[in-house]
Amino acid sequence: MAATRNVVVIGSGPAGLTAALYSARANLKPLVIEGLEAGGQLMLTTMVENYPGYRDGIMGPDLMSEMRDQAQRFGAEFVHGNVEKVELCGAYPFSVKTSEADHAAKTIIVATGASARLLGLPSERTLMGHGVSTCATCDGYFFRGQEIAVVGGGDSAMEEAIFLTRFATKVTLVHRRDTLRASKIMQDKARANPKIVWMLDSEVEEIRDTGKGEVTAMVVRHNKTQARADLPVAGVFVAIGHTPNTSLFRGQVELDQNGYIRTHDGAKTSIAGVFACGDVQDHIYRQAITAAGSGCMAAIDAEHFLDNIPEHLATV
Ligand code: NAP
Repeated sequence: MAATRNVVVIGSGPAGLTAALYSARANLKPLVIEGLEAGGQLMLTTMVENYPGYRDGIMGPDLMSEMRDQAQRFGAEFVHGNVEKVELCGAYPFSVKTSEADHAAKTIIVATGASARLLGLPSERTLMGHGVSTCATCDGYFFRGQEIAVVGGGDSAMEEAIFLTRFATKVTLVHRRDTLRASKIMQDKARANPKIVWMLDSEVEEIRDTGKGEVTAMVVRHNKTQARADLPVAGVFVAIGHTPNTSLFRGQVELDQNGYIRTHDGAKTSIAGVFACGDVQDHIYRQAITAAGSGCMAAIDAEHFLDNIPEHLATV
């Protein structure tokens, strides 16, 4: 096994890269294990217009590349690949295993994010960032004066649909059942909004037009009558929930009832020396800027921990 690391960051979205930048600048020589989806959810976006400091916007992948280079400039090291196992309980230092190597770490910063659930249609994948979005806050502004659709029946779908009526002329809410999962108050707000049109018992079969590389319509099937309808829209917001990427940590770090890592007093988790930041511990804000901010907090918390490692943990 290689020398024990001060900090191993797992994940390379805005949270992980900001944690890497701050811990590199604190001279902690962090190792970042990038994960299979290196760069995180912003790699699936096109223009990002709400990241402060980029007056004219920046493409999501370019923003991530800038952040990675910035962290690297101060000495963060990057390895490709995925973490297969972590051992956080019992022995110290912690152990992080990838298919290539075993790493020992005095602190771990978990920044594995959450993945937006998708419908699973090939056209949805192809048009992601080109009219298909999983983030109304990020992309709603691009649909000023247009007709769009939101898919889902939970609180997120209601919230996104209501938010999107600020920009769109009409928002069709497409949900697979005739009852909504959303809380009564959110349902009532959405139902009271005259710009929201309901398409219940309806499933999306296809998003057009992959040939043109932009969204022009959705094919929706009514699952009771089996009737198919073409719904002309310029954008589709998929709001069917998120899955936090916490399977590695289950049974070791305390999670909340939805599977997100519980943090307290900044970025601390239930295990001293393990910190979490970004969407893996935040199901409310989910923004690049909030993830980056929490990555900074995790790095500072890790630095403080390393300054004063508790006595009961045998140091190496
Ligand atoms: P959610 O409550 O799990 O709802 C997901 C919705 O997507 C459900 O209506 C579900 O349909 C639908 N869905 C799931 N998979 C689908 C698929 N493959 N095809 C079509 N539809 C599918 O997720 P969420 O709305 O993101 O909310 C997550 C948590 O955050 C909840 O606890 C929620 O209350 C909370 N939240 C709160 C607020 C707020 O209070 N302001 C805002 C956002 C989120 P079915 O209903 O048929 O299963």
